[in-house]
Amino acid sequence: MSDLSRRKFLRAAAVGAAVTPACSVAPAAAAPSVRVRRQSPIAVASSNGLEAVRIAVERMQAGMRPVDAAVAGVEVVENDPNDNSVGLGGLPNERGIVTLDSCVMDGPSGLGGAVAHLQNIKNPAQVALKVMRHTDHVLLVAEGALEFARAHGFREQDLLTDASRKIWLEWLEKRSSVDDWISPEENGEHGTEWFQKYKDKTGTIHLGAVDANGDVGSCTTTSGLAFKLNGRVGDSPLLGCGNYCDNDVGTGGSTGRGEACILVNGAAFTVHQMALGKSPTDACLETVKRVARMTRVARLLDAKGRPDFQVKFYATDKRGRAGAAAMYPGKFAVCDDSGPRLEDLAALFDSRD
Ligand code: ASP
Repeated sequence: MSDLSRRKFLRAAAVGAAVTPACSVAPAAAAPSVRVRRQSPIAVASSNGLEAVRIAVERMQAGMRPVDAAVAGVEVVENDPNDNSVGLGGLPNERGIVTLDSCVMDGPSGLGGAVAHLQNIKNPAQVALKVMRHTDHVLLVAEGALEFARAHGFREQDLLTDASRKIWLEWLEKRSSVDDWISPEENGEHGTEWFQKYKDKTGTIHLGAVDANGDVGSCTTTSGLAFKLNGRVGDSPLLGCGNYCDNDVGTGGSTGRGEACILVNGAAFTVHQMALGKSPTDACLETVKRVARMTRVARLLDAKGRPDFQVKFYATDKRGRAGAAAMYPGKFAVCDDSGPRLEDLAALFDSRD
């Protein structure tokens, strides 16, 4: 449909909706939206988001919309070269290329935007916000996402820092004994300070925000699993998986093994659990249990039959409550009028031992 005809169609649809109540899909007596009394803004995030939640709450206190506050909060992590799971300095894929995924969702409008497999732009959450506000689409990927970012004036830069490049090289040299990459240790030398076992390939920031009126917004941004196959996209840019919100309910989001989250539609499932009456923590725990129940193949299970990976879910509700739960113990960040802090999340299993 051409732009003109699409606009005409939208205008006609709007007029039609106004004059033909008999054809409306709205129930005769529409259920009222949940209304909350004014409360302290609150933000929840993964444990790398302590400063991010502080910024998000500060911005909401100054009147910023929750989705914008969430994006402003995660920007500090995207810009931090020392956080090697997000934005600048993010660990690359198996070919040494840093590719970023992000999505945002805005409660009041019910709109979302996302980018996946984006290269050379360190703030993918801001690009996702532009997709939401400046297009009729939800998700742009790869070269198309980069073109769109360029059109909006985002500056391109090499996101692979020296530190991340050395970790990638170490991984390349140590991953297999049947290729021609070898490490200095195999030649009898001591490794450099970077030659360390890099076990944890996960990391991401999710941030869910609720303002004083109970409006919600949320964002997830990541460089994805380290050393992933080229072209792999995780849960983070997928609305309903790594991030979701519903202005009548609250926000949900995830970090950790994205494949597990995608397979249960983790963020949407969490928000749905809250819609059914669960607290944020209990809703997250239900989602973790669903992941455990859906994880059946032996290669993903440990000797005790438990999922052999970490996955974490975070939630806020309209009433200004926050919670988080994971497969194994960990922390999450939260900020309200008592300030930013790390708290223990609820864990399905006590330890990985
Ligand atoms: N969930 C992210 C992904 O799978 C990674 C992470 O959170 O560590 O891409």
